[in-house]
Amino acid sequence: MAKGIDNHREERILQQTLNNLSAKSRAPLSVYFVLLALYFIATFIVSRSAGSDATISMGGQHIPVFLFAGVFSSLSNICVILLTVYCGKLGFITSLVVIVMNIPMVMIGIIMKHNMNSIPGVFGNLLAIVAITVVFVNNVKIERIQEKLRKQALTDILTGLPNWYACARLVDEIEKSGEKFVTASIDLNGFKSINETMGFEMGNKVLKKVASLWREIAETGASGTRDFVIRLNGDEFALVIRDFDSDEDVLNTIRMYESAISKKLSIDGYDFYISASFGYAEYPKDNNDVQTVMLYANEAMREIKKASSSNHILRFSKDIIREERILEVESKIRSALENDTVFFNLQPQYDMNRKLRGFEALARMKDADGSIISPGEFIPVAEKVGLVDKIDSAVFRKATGFVGELISRTGADITLSLNVSVRHLMKSDFLDEIKNLVKNSGIPAEQIEIEITESVMIDSVEKALQYIDELKTIGVKIAIDDFGTGYSSLSYLTSFPANLLKIDKSFIDKMNSSESSKQYVEAIISLGHILGFEVISEGVEEGEQLNTLKAIGCDYIQGFIWGRPLPPEEAGKLVLGE
Ligand code: C2E
Ligand code: MG
Ligand code: MG
Repeated sequence: MAKGIDNHREERILQQTLNNLSAKSRAPLSVYFVLLALYFIATFIVSRSAGSDATISMGGQHIPVFLFAGVFSSLSNICVILLTVYCGKLGFITSLVVIVMNIPMVMIGIIMKHNMNSIPGVFGNLLAIVAITVVFVNNVKIERIQEKLRKQALTDILTGLPNWYACARLVDEIEKSGEKFVTASIDLNGFKSINETMGFEMGNKVLKKVASLWREIAETGASGTRDFVIRLNGDEFALVIRDFDSDEDVLNTIRMYESAISKKLSIDGYDFYISASFGYAEYPKDNNDVQTVMLYANEAMREIKKASSSNHILRFSKDIIREERILEVESKIRSALENDTVFFNLQPQYDMNRKLRGFEALARMKDADGSIISPGEFIPVAEKVGLVDKIDSAVFRKATGFVGELISRTGADITLSLNVSVRHLMKSDFLDEIKNLVKNSGIPAEQIEIEITESVMIDSVEKALQYIDELKTIGVKIAIDDFGTGYSSLSYLTSFPANLLKIDKSFIDKMNSSESSKQYVEAIISLGHILGFEVISEGVEEGEQLNTLKAIGCDYIQGFIWGRPLPPEEAGKLVLGE
């Protein structure tokens, strides 16, 4: 489903998934060699014992040695059958060769040495050939059926496009590689009425036609981006777009898919005019959790469908999280708080020589099915419904408990950064909460840092300042998070009692592609230093960004390049140097 030579990766991913769907019962090579060795030993014993007149004494009985020939001949036959069963084609061919080679040797024994005891052995060999051939042919048939079933598990039967499962695997792989991509959720407009008026059969033909038009674009790379089309179910499709440079590229690609089906489609003498609604979101720009990005794309698609305008394409923006989704997330937050299942990850922060500065605690929540819901989704909802302070507090309690224990065990000079929402900050008992945390966790106050998001703070700066001043009296540090997004005024910055500015990821992303963005980051760093703040850059992913930041005097970095958010135990290992 992808462009030119690049489709190897998709094929490899799908092939891996196919293999994982049903692991082949092929034994390792060591089994092959053991069985082969056993076969040769057994055959050797047969050849030495078959013509022998000797006897061995066992429990007072004299047993003729040639009787052992029968036993070891059966053992050698079992070996070749097992070789064929467990070692596939290699085992079968090896078995065939060794048996066929064995026959003339036995015949020579019979003719030259008149050793008639070997005659049953020849029949045994012939039977073994029949047996392994039957086993091998059956194995091949079973493997073919398995292969077909595995392919079907990844393919939509009606259209032949990859299905949801294939899409999920592909997206997981892209996420692991850290590559950016756009996912578009697509729903055909008015498809229900085609089904109702023309029947399911015609509906299916329309779906097939649409799928084949889209498949052609994806396979030929006509859009200029690398695309992957999936049929999810019914009239729902999805598109994964990669290798784009700008929003413009993405939009052009989606427009191409839109116009491919908007021409008149003639099927069985009927003319159809089809359109589809496209909602899309970008990973990791919109969210760094793949599942959330897919959900966002779906929200955008529903929104544009609902609008029933002539424009059928919508990019996700935070304003379109639906009311129902808010309710759904709210109930998840409530039950996570009730069951105390809110947990945290720790993302390392480093100085420019990669010395660990400390960690930022980031809230995490699991869905009932075990999947992680991203804070990008539940924090805005929690803020809206007034639960964010409870989430903050759960993270505060758990993270300070863990890091406090780590510091008392290792004496590490690390800072723990905690995100606080302004609603929480302004609660009358906030100060007491922090004092208690310092006391109970044993973390020295100056090793705790409270992060306040710039944009939120500006809205209520006067009041916030009062609280922040009080916080400073305890000795904890203050960081201004997502700096650059909130248009802070210089006057308030000069009087703001912060220690650290955290430059927002969006500036770091653009820094190396635009000179003005680089100058902007450089200016923030200089300004920060003049005002007595230290500066950390967030979301550093590439070596080039790191080099630029070193060159322009940034103090610290936090980003996937040196460390993703980690479960506490993993973060602990960083401190212990394991
Ligand atoms: P933030 O405080 O700006 O945290 C940094 C976010 O950027 C984290 O996302 C982190 O995973 C992500 N990030 C860090 N480095 C990179 C990178 O190199 N590439 C990319 N793509 N992303 C990077 P996360 O964990 O999803 O948190 C999102 C936001 O949710 C946070 O942004 C913060 O505003 C809020 N949040 C998280 N935990 C809490 C909490 O306990 N309380 C409150 N009030 N807000 C929280
Ligand atoms: Mg933060
Ligand atoms: Mg931030």
